[in-house]
Amino acid sequence: MQFKSIIGQKELISNLTTSFKENRVAHTQLFLGDEGYGALPLAIAYSQFLLCTNKQSDDSCGVCPSCKKFDKYAHPDLHFYFPTATNQTIKKNPKSSLALDVWRNYLIENNAYITLNGWLDKLGVGNKQGYLRKDDANEIIGKVALKAFEGSHKVFIIWMADKMNEPTANKLLKTFEEPPENTIIILITEKYEQLLPTVRSRAQLVKVQKLSIDEITQKLIEVGIDNEHAHKSASLANGSWNNASEITEESEDENSNFINFRKWLRLCYQPKDYDELLKFNQEISKLGREKQKSFLNYGLEIIHNSILSNHNQSENIKKAGDELNFTKNFSKFINEANQRDMYKLFNEAIYHIERNAHAGIMYSDMSFKIIDLILSGRKHIANN
Ligand SMILES: [Zn+2]
Repeated sequence: MQFKSIIGQKELISNLTTSFKENRVAHTQLFLGDEGYGALPLAIAYSQFLLCTNKQSDDSCGVCPSCKKFDKYAHPDLHFYFPTATNQTIKKNPKSSLALDVWRNYLIENNAYITLNGWLDKLGVGNKQGYLRKDDANEIIGKVALKAFEGSHKVFIIWMADKMNEPTANKLLKTFEEPPENTIIILITEKYEQLLPTVRSRAQLVKVQKLSIDEITQKLIEVGIDNEHAHKSASLANGSWNNASEITEESEDENSNFINFRKWLRLCYQPKDYDELLKFNQEISKLGREKQKSFLNYGLEIIHNSILSNHNQSENIKKAGDELNFTKNFSKFINEANQRDMYKLFNEAIYHIERNAHAGIMYSDMSFKIIDLILSGRKHIANN
């Protein structure tokens, strides 16, 4: 990971490279920043820069043998320590080195923009807390004493350093205070107050700043999100890339639910193209269970909103643009002749999906029922 892949943090990166050029790299540093600001990716890019054998003035080269090893976060002079707990494979005495493969895969999947909860989920520890442990401290002490394998430096990244308990931290104080020559220790935390004062006082503080809306927007566009959605997600993300990604994902799901639901209702409103309707049913039934539930819940929400709209409570509808227009049009066919059965239809479908019903058959059955329900709604209007 090169500096150029880091979101924002330009000033900080320039400080880090300048301190290297001026030969005043602090041996123990504490990167402090909230979730999603990118302290870990920054620490990794910094390590890659330090170990690069062909560095440019402001970034690692990205192609030398040392940099290549960073592609998989597997450089022999880069050492990761992070919170762990027991799981299906690590049944006792958990420590970072036992979970290193899972860790590296998790970094690769997320470009190192990771969260503590995400990591513990990935590790599969259930409800247990993760800690940095005495066994981790012992390994760090052992490895610090060895010479660098190939690089000019050895770098130790200790992620979520506030998860070190006191005995672990006490073992490491001397190492933090005075690591051997060419050893760099980067502690990372989101919770300065929870880090032991004895640890804090031994490290140079590096504050990782929250990301700007522009920086997040630009990155979202880079990964293929359209301008409007990118800007909207970025404004809600509170400076965190992880928040922004999560918001974007949710709004994409929401958008595809809308498009699918509108298509379905249009096919049911004028049921002449049964081929197309059956094809649609098959497509929906192939979505994963959670996506199907989300889609059916979305349908319930639109039915609910249509009823609100019919009872002059449009101000309670949290929809805008095309979605709001569609809801208002749809509400014209929802009335006392069919609203109760519509609710029931979708609620029962969710119940069946949770119990692994045959989704293809279920959606076909629902389609025929929706055709009938729309028809009885229209008759009701004609008769009143
Ligand atoms: Zn390089």
